[in-house]
Amino acid sequence: MSHELQLHPDGRLRHLLSLDGLPASLLEELLDRAEAMVPHAHAGTALRDRLAGRTLCTLFFETSTRTRSSFQLAAMRLGMDVLNFDVATSSTKKGESALDTLRTLEAMGVDLFVVRHADDGAVAALAAGAAQGTRLINAGDGRSSHPTQGLLDMLTLRQRKGRDFSRLTVLIAGDLKHSRVARSDLQALRALGCGEIRVCGPANLLPGDDVLRGCRVFNDFDQAVAGVDAAIMLRLQRERMDEGLVPSLEGYYRDFGLSPERLARAAPDALVMHPGPMNRGVEIDGGVADGPQSVVLAQVGNGVAMRMAVIDALLRG
Ligand code: ASP
Repeated sequence: MSHELQLHPDGRLRHLLSLDGLPASLLEELLDRAEAMVPHAHAGTALRDRLAGRTLCTLFFETSTRTRSSFQLAAMRLGMDVLNFDVATSSTKKGESALDTLRTLEAMGVDLFVVRHADDGAVAALAAGAAQGTRLINAGDGRSSHPTQGLLDMLTLRQRKGRDFSRLTVLIAGDLKHSRVARSDLQALRALGCGEIRVCGPANLLPGDDVLRGCRVFNDFDQAVAGVDAAIMLRLQRERMDEGLVPSLEGYYRDFGLSPERLARAAPDALVMHPGPMNRGVEIDGGVADGPQSVVLAQVGNGVAMRMAVIDALLRG
């Protein structure tokens, strides 16, 4: 990913396309900004004048529950006008390209697009074709990147474990191969200086060494989870898989599911995280997902504050 595309020459963010290569100082600034947004994220009108008169458009070529809704709410908390573009009933079905669609909406006065697309690099390609003043946020492209999820995961970790990531051992487990969340989390954890990053999954669901740089790789989940401060569980992404990668869901849970017994091997105050949507009984036991160590819904809640912070950083600098 070219930094010239996402950063201004002075290092400020122009678009948020990927966390890859972003300096720790910039990530920390975004996390600090999100913390300041937390009191205003779920209620209140205190920030309603902040971006009043500006327009955000969600342009989702793939399904979403959390990301799209939290961007909508984040924009509304900041007083923006919000357009939820409905791809399914639009002229994209007549063959209009994504870039022509974006340009059309730009002409109506949209300042900021939040885009999700099934193809790797699709959001960066749109950013390259957008007008100079337009801003884009990548809300997930293929397997590549989901930067606001990476940031909200770091916010959730930081709130509960403190700002010093060097003291933490964090495990990311499951279908890393198909997961854009894993890639963004790994980039953020590395940038923030996480003490030990572990990954675990079946050999055929692990990505290449370039993605796993600096990680301790495990195939045995019992060993991987021992003593960790947080376990980030990933959804088995069957929609991105060729047939046969996972012979049976029962077998997958047996070998790679976060069961209560496995969680007991982690540090006693270990956090259980998952970006959602969860496959209960596949990568995570339902009781663990709802249990006292789970911060899954706190992650969702933080999504609003984190997205407010990113929108604010892009539009106010
Ligand atoms: N919601 C996340 C994403 O869009 C994680 C997932 O779908 O598994 O990448």
